[in-house]
Amino acid sequence: MNEGLIIKVTGNIYTVRDISGETIPCVIKGNLRVKGFKSTNPIAVGDKVLYSKVSGDSKGIIHQILDRKNYIIRKATKLSKQYHIIASNVDQAILVVTLIEPLTTFEFIDRYLVSCEAFRIPAIIVINKVDLYEGQWHQKFKDLKEIYTSAGYICIETSIVNGINLSAFKDILQNKVSVLNGHSGVGKSSLIKAIAPQLDIKIGEISQYHRAGLHTTSYSQMYEIFKHTFIIDTPGIKGFGLIDIEKNELYHFFPEIFKTSKSCKFHNCTHIHEPGCAVIEAVKHDKIAFSRYNSYLNIYFDENEKYRSPF
Ligand code: GDP
Ligand code: ZN
Repeated sequence: MNEGLIIKVTGNIYTVRDISGETIPCVIKGNLRVKGFKSTNPIAVGDKVLYSKVSGDSKGIIHQILDRKNYIIRKATKLSKQYHIIASNVDQAILVVTLIEPLTTFEFIDRYLVSCEAFRIPAIIVINKVDLYEGQWHQKFKDLKEIYTSAGYICIETSIVNGINLSAFKDILQNKVSVLNGHSGVGKSSLIKAIAPQLDIKIGEISQYHRAGLHTTSYSQMYEIFKHTFIIDTPGIKGFGLIDIEKNELYHFFPEIFKTSKSCKFHNCTHIHEPGCAVIEAVKHDKIAFSRYNSYLNIYFDENEKYRSPF
């Protein structure tokens, strides 16, 4: 039995990469059992599996999925109790953002980060197109960088046009499995092309939605851009939002709010209206960015409900 890595899933064919880098199409052994939650797909990109080759057959057989260190999931459908695994065993999530052409809102970034925290995947923010941030945009760029750096996230600013920090971008990917996300047009494909010119891939076009009954299935794909350096292109980032987070646990996924909450008067403080709330105090004194706190409230109360800000 050999160990391999799932780099692509199409229908019921699983492409396995062995340690030497060779790929073998595989099928699942009939009685393969999957532990844990109910998912619409038994194996996802990023899974490590045990497989065997059958002499005379071009396809291998997958016998076992090795324990996952983490995974990105979304609900199969909005109301469904079943999940779809988007990717597993991810070392880090990289969100590429821009302030203009196109705009990535702070709330979008916060929602993405909350999902990463919930999935226990370290997140890094790449602020691209810094060549464009002049005049009023320069201050906005500085604010963005300051807010997320002080929240505890690594932020790197890049520009394809001016060749800024491309080697730093390459360094953060090296020897890791990264998911790469961000709105269409922020420069994901350009960044990959700049550090791996031999690759000709369009990141973000992976969303192959195909209808099978009521389910909409979408696949991720993994690319080996350098030896032992992988990036995963995942379908529609919207999918990230479709997970259940308990309201009273939401603040755990804002690292700076969580840290500050240890000084709240009440242990079950929601950080919305309570007296003696250290979080509200910190926001008032600019120790926690208002935009971060605002995103906390917006997610807490969901889009549909009105909320009362303590300010
Ligand atoms: P993707 O949809 O995220 O993969 O974005 P692309 O890589 O296709 O880039 C979208 C557009 O932004 C292209 O026209 C790129 O040339 C342009 N672009 C990418 N990076 C930069 C940058 O650093 N500065 C500027 N000014 N434009 C960029
Ligand atoms: Zn509080």
